[in-house]
Amino acid sequence: GGNALLGKKCYALRIASTMARRDGWMAEHMLILRLTDEKSGEQYHVTAAFPSACGKTNLAMLQPTIPGYKVETVGDDIAWMRPGEDGTLRAINPEAGFFGVAPGTSYKTNPMAMETMKENSIFTNVALTDDGDVWWEGIDGDTPDHLIDWHGNDWTPESGEKAAHPNSRFTTPAAQCPIVCPDWEAPEGVPVTAILFGGRRASNVPLVAEQYSPAHGVFIGASVASEQTAAAEGAVGSLRHDPFAMLPFCGYNMADYWGHWLEMQEKVGDKFPRIYQVNWFRKDEDGSFLWPGYGDNARVLDWIVRRASGKVDAIEGPTGYYPKFEDFNLEGTDLGREEWDKMFAIDPDAWLAETEDTEKYFSQFGDKLPKAISDELAKLRERLQALK
Ligand code: GDP
Ligand code: MN
Repeated sequence: GGNALLGKKCYALRIASTMARRDGWMAEHMLILRLTDEKSGEQYHVTAAFPSACGKTNLAMLQPTIPGYKVETVGDDIAWMRPGEDGTLRAINPEAGFFGVAPGTSYKTNPMAMETMKENSIFTNVALTDDGDVWWEGIDGDTPDHLIDWHGNDWTPESGEKAAHPNSRFTTPAAQCPIVCPDWEAPEGVPVTAILFGGRRASNVPLVAEQYSPAHGVFIGASVASEQTAAAEGAVGSLRHDPFAMLPFCGYNMADYWGHWLEMQEKVGDKFPRIYQVNWFRKDEDGSFLWPGYGDNARVLDWIVRRASGKVDAIEGPTGYYPKFEDFNLEGTDLGREEWDKMFAIDPDAWLAETEDTEKYFSQFGDKLPKAISDELAKLRERLQALK
């Protein structure tokens, strides 16, 4: 059931990515959200690619913790993008619904997803309660004394095994989402303001960095990687590369895919959205997250849209433009300069080791690696060397 659905989606996406390159558009593993500045009425659209289980569905349905912004969901997993008649890059969500990981989803973590799946939904590999409801680890309320687990066996808290499969899923109509964007099915799509790339990075990667140039943006996407376990923290060798979060979904040579992005940037020109590297998962010495994440990610979106519309200045950092502390809205958090400095700290040695790893990863593509991408790696190295 669940795995067959996953497999089919994966297959469909590979075909789409291949057709996109042939026909001059982009088929991406990205959420799409609309951010409305409630005072000015201005609308921004943000797409974001994070590897699986790194926060796409949560960001797509985010409940901002800062006043003045409204988020509406256009899509939570797939974006198809092409230049529109007005010259902007336009994105549509080709999916009818959301296909999300159930464990960890609750009214506390993602209330909009919970509201969406209240009816007309399919659940695969979850557990069943005695009164016929679904259950998974991390859902609201107390753990029941008895369940039927995802294998179909009796389960009690003493069983010592997970009742729901860690990759159990809900499949639910997007139209039922309380904050679905009124234009979520608009055939012309929504104009994209900014494109985000991220992964789970316990170390090294700052909260947010803006591209220096379009090619630098593609380099940021190409170097997306995630650290899976706490044991792997800081150890560069343990990075799992997932360029553009497309590793399972790219139907052709990944280096050609990067070349396609560079060509699309050229074609769209100045109206191609700026690219940002984000990281919600940086940890401090005790292993706790430095950034509160979830609804507070609206603070990062706030800086990004002000930046993209030319309203704020930035600092030239080794990995991109960083926000100035005073420009960033931290009101209502307990974060100050000290935490900020930790979130943006760059250890040149750790980063130089990472560039070695990236170079090794890129080398498998041989001659196909676009020169613009190897040039960006060289520029990053120079900026890091300058810190030493
Ligand atoms: P997707 O597979 O990319 O759609 O990821 P999900 O949105 O389903 O989230 C995957 C996991 O990451 C869940 O356990 C979330 O609770 C967690 N997560 C999502 N956003 C954040 C965040 O901003 N900070 C932290 N610490 N965890 C997050
Ligand atoms: Mn998702």
